[in-house]
Order: sequence, then C-alpha cells, then structure tokens
Amino acid sequence: MPHLRKDPEKRLWVIAAPQRNRRPRPKTLIANKLDPSAPCPLCPGNEDKTPPEITAFRDRGTEPNSPGWSVRVVPNAYPALKVEEETIAGPEGLYDIMGGVGAHEIVIETPEHDTTLGERSLEQVTEILEALRERTADLKQDRRFEQVILFKNRGAMAGASLYHPHFQLMALPVVPKDIDDELSAAKSYFDYRGRCVYCDVINQETKQGERIVFRDTGAVSFCPYASRFAFECRVMPREHSSRFEDAGPDLLRSVAGALRETLRKLDIALERPDLNLVIHTLPFNSDMENQYHWHIEIMPWTEQAGGLEKGTGMFINPVLPEEAARHLRSL
Ligand SMILES: [Zn+2]
Ligand SMILES: [Zn+2]
Ligand SMILES: [Zn+2]
Repeated sequence: MPHLRKDPEKRLWVIAAPQRNRRPRPKTLIANKLDPSAPCPLCPGNEDKTPPEITAFRDRGTEPNSPGWSVRVVPNAYPALKVEEETIAGPEGLYDIMGGVGAHEIVIETPEHDTTLGERSLEQVTEILEALRERTADLKQDRRFEQVILFKNRGAMAGASLYHPHFQLMALPVVPKDIDDELSAAKSYFDYRGRCVYCDVINQETKQGERIVFRDTGAVSFCPYASRFAFECRVMPREHSSRFEDAGPDLLRSVAGALRETLRKLDIALERPDLNLVIHTLPFNSDMENQYHWHIEIMPWTEQAGGLEKGTGMFINPVLPEEAARHLRSL
C-alpha cells in the first residue's frame, strides 16, 4: 500500500509506491526512445483503455468516455497515491510515516498522437492550462491535500512511458522539498527587501534582456541566471500572482503564449528534446501570497544526472544561459 516516508536527515518526503512495480515496463523502448507506433491507450477511440474520465472538454452532444474531446482527464491507471487511502500519520520510532493519500491523474492534452505543445495553437495551449487550473481548484476542496503538482515528462529519458502528449497531476498531503526550499528563499528575500524575489528577478531580467527568450505584456520566459541544465527555461506571469488555480483567463492566455513560444523554440534548437516541465504554485495552506509567485520550470533532457548532481544537488551546466537564450531568441 502506498505511503509517504520522511527522511529526517534530509527533511525530505519520499512516496513509497510498491504497487507501481506492476506498471508495464515500456518494452517499446528502443535506443532510449519511445516507439510512436506502439498501441496507444490515450488516443481517441481507445477511451475504454483508460479508467473512466474525471472531466473532459468535448464537443456538444458527445458522451463521456467516447471520442469528441479536445482535452481529457483520467485517473492514472497505476497511481502512486490514492484518494481513498486513509491519512495515517504515526511515527515509527524517530521516523515519520503517512498514509499514501493523494490523487494521481493524467491530463491528455490533445487527441493528436504526434504533436508537441509548441506546435499547437494558442487556443489549444490555453485550453490545456485551463484544464490543469480547473483540476487544481477542484482538488483544493479536499482538505487533506497540501499541494498539487502539475508536470510533464516528455520522452523516455525524461521518464515517460507513453508517447501521446499528456500532463500528470499529483495532489499531495505534504509540501515537496523543492517548493519548501523556494518558500524559505522567498521568505528570506522578502524579510530583507520587502519585495517578491520572483517579481524582482522578472524586473531585472526584462531590463537586462540577455537571458530573455520571449516576453509580452502578460508573461515572460527566460533562461535562469544560474541555470542547472543546458537550455533550462522558466515561464512566469509578469504581474504578481501566487496561486496557479486563481489565474484568470487573460493571464492564462499570456502564460500559454509564452510557454508555447518557448517550447517551439526548444523543439527547433534541440530537435524535439525529451524534457520535464513542472508548475510550481503556492501550497494550499500557506499564507505567503505576497512572497511566492507561481511559475513553470522547463528542463530539457541533455545528460543523465551523475554522482555530483545526485550526491550533492550541485549541477554542472556546459551551456551559458546567455548563449542559450540568444540562440532561442533567434529562432
Ligand atoms: Zn495516442
Ligand atoms: Zn511576484
Ligand atoms: Zn520553482
């Protein structure tokens, strides 16, 4: 049964999910690539190959779990966490353990099997963000959840087992370490300067311009000053906004535009790279509305994490973000 264990030395929660072992291995993996022609449970016409849908944007008059959808949300068939799991918080000696309560959903971005986010229309990308936003707002109603993490694994190297474009969503009963670390940093900065660190970064980056990939009046995308990975990008709303689930239609459309442009450029520069993408937003029970600013992190897969990265959390990046950004701007 899934549960969460806390490493007291690292202040880090781990999801222990032995049931995920039953998940089919991607046998279709050839030379570390997913086979695009393998049978696909996410394609239209195969709606019965997934658990029944939670929600979908679909054509008027079409039935749930049948074709006619543009975005479709289903439970993960091999969830790492389960909604019906009891929250059992009880220490085991000095160790903290918690029941594996949570949600694990798949957001199928499009009926089209072989397109990338960067190739789709602004309307389509906006619709995907809207579906993610709606699911987050809905899961927030469940008081057991602290955080919803929205992410995307594209390609085998990035951890995907299905080729069809999809996001994953996980509702968690704890705040993950990366967000926790960002909250601490944002708090220290705010206590010192009295401003949101993300807003200040956006101001400096838009003024300097050398690491900007794309900007318009509503959103900005740039290669972070201390990029961990070659061609790492961040997309942020320019106006201060702490919670993804509260983003209005105009803001979502701006961010969708910046996200789409950034991914389009990355697809050209790195030839449709395998990549991870994650949306970081304020935990539901945090009151740090003034300090935290939601954002999207894009991490193209370039090389496998080695001993330094895994063993210390320190990264070596062979491509200067200024050079990556200059190249991306030119595309
Ligand atoms: Zn498909
Ligand atoms: Zn801000
Ligand atoms: Zn972040």
